[in-house]
Amino acid sequence: MTRPVAVWWVKRDTRLADNACLAEAAQLGLDVLPMFCFEPSLLAAGDSSAMHAHAQWQAVSGLRTGLRNYGADIVIAHGGAVEKLAKLLAVVPFTHLFAHEEIGNDLTFRRDRAVATWCRDRGVDYREFPQSSVRRSGVNRDHLQRMWQSRIVEVSPLPVPAFRQSDELRQLAASTTFPKLPAFTSNRLWQPVSEADAHATMADFLTRRGRWYRGGISSPNTAFTAGSRLSVHLTWGTLTARQVWHAVRDRTADLDPNDPQSSRWKQSLEAFVSRLHWRDHFTQRLESEPELEFRSIHPCYRNVPYENDEQLHTAWREGRTGYPLVDAVMRCLAATGFVNFRMRAMVVSFACHVLHLDWRLIHPHLARVFRDYDPGIHLNQLQMQAGVVGWNAIRVYNPAKQLADWDADCRFVKQWVPELRAVPAERIVAGENLPDYPSSVVPFAERAKRMTDQLYAIRRTAEAKAATAAVYLMHGSRKKEQSFRPKKPKRPAPPPIPTLFDALPSD
Ligand SMILES: Cc1cc2nc3c(=O)[nH]c(=O)nc-3n(C[C@H](O)[C@H](O)[C@H](O)COP(=O)(O)OP(=O)(O)OC[C@H]3O[C@@H](n4cnc5c(N)ncnc54)[C@H](O)[C@@H]3O)c2cc1C
Repeated sequence: MTRPVAVWWVKRDTRLADNACLAEAAQLGLDVLPMFCFEPSLLAAGDSSAMHAHAQWQAVSGLRTGLRNYGADIVIAHGGAVEKLAKLLAVVPFTHLFAHEEIGNDLTFRRDRAVATWCRDRGVDYREFPQSSVRRSGVNRDHLQRMWQSRIVEVSPLPVPAFRQSDELRQLAASTTFPKLPAFTSNRLWQPVSEADAHATMADFLTRRGRWYRGGISSPNTAFTAGSRLSVHLTWGTLTARQVWHAVRDRTADLDPNDPQSSRWKQSLEAFVSRLHWRDHFTQRLESEPELEFRSIHPCYRNVPYENDEQLHTAWREGRTGYPLVDAVMRCLAATGFVNFRMRAMVVSFACHVLHLDWRLIHPHLARVFRDYDPGIHLNQLQMQAGVVGWNAIRVYNPAKQLADWDADCRFVKQWVPELRAVPAERIVAGENLPDYPSSVVPFAERAKRMTDQLYAIRRTAEAKAATAAVYLMHGSRKKEQSFRPKKPKRPAPPPIPTLFDALPSD
């Protein structure tokens, strides 16, 4: 081996384009050796599932194909990251290790630190590169917009660089094979995840499906096509937010003002781009306060008296609550790994407000059935929908109203709850007792009121009001709800108007 070697430790950045690790290796003239490690500790974690392992397997397979097109290959390993890097170092004396700066949960953060220490002890030059606008170790939220500008807007996505890999390294990498894990079998209901799929999905959204985005993402019947469906790609790193942002900007510039559809397109693309921002907004919260994986962001909501009834938990997980839309969503998630924002919010609201289950109890199951599971978004959304954040309106989604509003002909419900297929939609929407279908496990209104009364009682305490200001200052959005910032201490703004039972959700 003549040239020095940089190992590109592939994690949630399974792509060749807009990849700082690959670009840095090329820039420094190093031979690059990509390595992906299937880590048993991550695969066995409570928030991990076969759906995720499968997504990674597909993404890495796609990356291998992409690399082979450039005459290169990737080392596939199965074991702890430090252990496998040590084995690799014994064979290939690499001088550099490049990885993306992963903003994940406690487990991946500790793993990353262990790798950093290992590198330091062995004199390996370890560098991490951000792939979003999220700033490591937190940031003053007043600067978040600036971070977005400087990392996403003002920098063009990196092209695939002219990188090098010696024949010796390529042969070594090519000799490694995927571990034989049961998850690595195809499932046609799971959205494909690879760099090629990411670009095809984005192109299809920006030229065809995106027109229906605004107005189309609320119903579970239309969101599968009207939504971008880019979440799995952003989660597993087959695409970056920067690539998406720049593609949307180009598409917007290309809109023909004479086209009668152009204003519809414009509105849809604007609505879509704001959600890309939300992604980093929530992920920054987790980075700034990693403890919110385990406790609510607001100190006064850490001991909400949830019942955590195991039978209700099981009924919710299995989609047997007697609430047709809730059951359909839970079964759809288990089968496909996807539902839209509104339906995700509804099943969380139902679990926490109506079944009185702690958001920490329902977290692992939901994480496992979301193919796009991303801790930063997920943990924050769980807390928001559970009403334990402290400053946003407490939203209780009434599943009966959601059904009437978004699936009045029960197409979605009948697809996922086959025992209701023969029942006329009007009877399902009317909430009648139906044969061959369980009656409601608990009464909705009474239970929802009991939980929201408790949450509002906490909110009214002086202690909670004081804490809200501090938590908001650290984590709140800077565009709205400025009232919680301590700029006008003498005239505190009134608390947000409680909007019970179906306020418009922020999707
Ligand atoms: C309880 C709950 C848990 C969630 N967990 C996740 C998760 O683990 N991973 C995940 O990617 N999304 C999560 N979301 C957000 C949202 O539901 C999904 O991002 C969206 O449904 C994915 O579909 P799409 O790619 O078509 O999204 P689009 O509507 O096309 O949005 C584009 C992208 O913006 C981001 N985004 C969209 N909505 C939000 C949001 N509300 N907050 C932050 N970012 C957003 C996503 O990256 C998404 O891919 C969660 C929402 C709720 C209510």
